[in-house]
Amino acid sequence: MEDEEGPQCGKPDFVLLDQVTMEDFMENLKLRFEKGRIYTYIGEVLVSVNPYQQLPLYGPEAIARYQGRELYERPPHLYAVANAAYRAMKRRSRDTCIVISGESGAGKTEASKHIMQYIAAVTNPSQRAEVERVKDVLLKSTCVLEAFGNARTNRNHNSSRFGKYMDINFDFKGDPVGGHIHSYLLEKSRVLKQHVGERNFHAFYQVLRGCEDSELRELHLERNPALYNFTRQGAGLSGNIEFVETEEGHLSVAEDRLVGHVAELTATPQELVLRCLLARTVASGGREVIQKGHTAAEASYARDACAKAVYQRLFEWVVNRINSVMEARGRDPRRDGKDTVIGVLDIYGFEVFPVNSFEQFCINYCNEKLQQLFIQLILKQEQEEYEREGITWQTVEYFNNATIVDLVERPHRGILAVLDEACSTAGTITDRVFLQTLDTHHRHHPHYTSRQLCPTDKTMEFGRDFRIKHYAGDVTYSVQGFIDKNRDALFQDFKRLLYNSMDPTLRAMWPDGQQDITEVTKRPLTAGTLFKNSMVALVGNLASKEPFYVRCIKPNEDKVAARLDEGHCRHQVAYLGLLENVRVRRAGFASRQPYPRFLLRYKMTCEYTWPNHLLGSDRAAVSALLEQHGLQGDVAFGHSKLFIRSPRTLVTLEQSRARL
Ligand code: ATP
Ligand code: MG
Repeated sequence: MEDEEGPQCGKPDFVLLDQVTMEDFMENLKLRFEKGRIYTYIGEVLVSVNPYQQLPLYGPEAIARYQGRELYERPPHLYAVANAAYRAMKRRSRDTCIVISGESGAGKTEASKHIMQYIAAVTNPSQRAEVERVKDVLLKSTCVLEAFGNARTNRNHNSSRFGKYMDINFDFKGDPVGGHIHSYLLEKSRVLKQHVGERNFHAFYQVLRGCEDSELRELHLERNPALYNFTRQGAGLSGNIEFVETEEGHLSVAEDRLVGHVAELTATPQELVLRCLLARTVASGGREVIQKGHTAAEASYARDACAKAVYQRLFEWVVNRINSVMEARGRDPRRDGKDTVIGVLDIYGFEVFPVNSFEQFCINYCNEKLQQLFIQLILKQEQEEYEREGITWQTVEYFNNATIVDLVERPHRGILAVLDEACSTAGTITDRVFLQTLDTHHRHHPHYTSRQLCPTDKTMEFGRDFRIKHYAGDVTYSVQGFIDKNRDALFQDFKRLLYNSMDPTLRAMWPDGQQDITEVTKRPLTAGTLFKNSMVALVGNLASKEPFYVRCIKPNEDKVAARLDEGHCRHQVAYLGLLENVRVRRAGFASRQPYPRFLLRYKMTCEYTWPNHLLGSDRAAVSALLEQHGLQGDVAFGHSKLFIRSPRTLVTLEQSRARL
């Protein structure tokens, strides 16, 4: 890898474009991509295009080239961003965060891994054992979490089906001494059902593939994934625990043997497992309880809910285990000083499938929230910078998605509130009524529509779909199952059963099973509300830190190397607001650069500054250089940085540099 990029590689920063048009942007992106330059800056924001092939950009040697350098000294790279976040944290004791965004398959998870590897490689020069231990867990945790939380989808062979925010704690020396992972809304419906061409979470196949024969026998499993409903979707429906109902309405389990397996594996009594499968306990006033038999449909529903919940709690248990071993140990803030933190956010990207349900709704809402944060932080940062350097700020207009966030989360009327309302009206509200209520509230909202409101639009199903015009594109959601998934009910009987397991690990996953049915009066928060609360907390947390952004772009839909589909990328560039990002960066001042950085790039264009200047300060040298070019009228000298007003000035400088 060359350390300097020649003009044949295009502009390393989109701010240097002659004009900010989609054409110019795409031309530069494409040119760089063809040259294997998958990274480009917009100021300090890194734009990354998934190469879908191994490029020689990573590893110890590359890391060494970026270590301790300034962002501009080397070609754009994830390592440079990781390094900038690390140095900002270390120099100024500021908590920083790296927010990685982009649609499914754009390369967010891979990016987060490169960032972690960079941080692990440049820290702990003195090889302290405890720090090495923490780093080891940090790096290895990724693999475990991917096994349980990632799956093959039609958009990405290794798609994250949960959101992940990881804090890394550093001591005053800048060495990692602990970490903490927050996970967000695992797509647990995948446990039961996958679209054609998709798979269940990797862990299922890994168990079948990787266990010894004897281990499989103990688990009562056969090696062939095609034998299980959970792992062979699309091929038939017969399967694991099924129910049969006699004509008199008597319900039983098709294969008793399987109930025995469940009892054995969960260390619970077989007759209790059977009872939980066939009936539920209901409180009938006061402390009276009765057993109410399930219909076959209810029993299947309850079984599925239990399977999903077991997997979800297992996942959470894994996250908690990782957290407990990563916890900063034996630290005392008075003695050791305050820890500083770098947070890395890798969350599921915006997604659209042929049929979109509650999960896509949550995922896309999450992306709206993050886009909103991006808008606010970019503005905020700009304002702060101009203030620091004493310059008046000029506003740039761009699409603010606050109105879409509001459509979803507004109290009382927002989609989530209407959904909660539907869920609290026990059993009587249908999906259809829910949709009608949405229509009533939002018929005039510019980002909401449904078939009923727009009868000519035949792409939606009458009485089933609504559509949100997201910042990233239109998504049609089928309301089918929204109420169920939001209510996320699991009968107390299952919780009790598992809480009473003889297996201490299982037992620890079900503390709420302790409650008696007569005590379970308070309605638990819905899945949607829990998710909203976690998003509000996440955004608050990110906003309190100094942010660095990585904007990932997926080059094509076919996951093939070295092909950049222009239409596809154009769309992403548009919705990620990258052009606006460049414009904001250039508004008032197209560019601002610390004096040393400016000199490094342009000193060869001036006899006073090449190869080195003798002018006392970098600022004086920059002034001399600009004077020679006749450009001094277009700039302002800040305390530490040069502010350049018109993009022309940069273009002129770039041209004289290219002529050499
Ligand atoms: P999702 O939102 O579905 O989780 P994602 O943005 O996390 O998607 P990744 O899983 O990071 O996407 O990337 C998808 C695939 O693209 C990877 O499995 C890998 O094959 C390829 N890929 C991504 N980034 C790179 C890279 N820098 N170098 C080589 N291949 C890459
Ligand atoms: Mg991912």
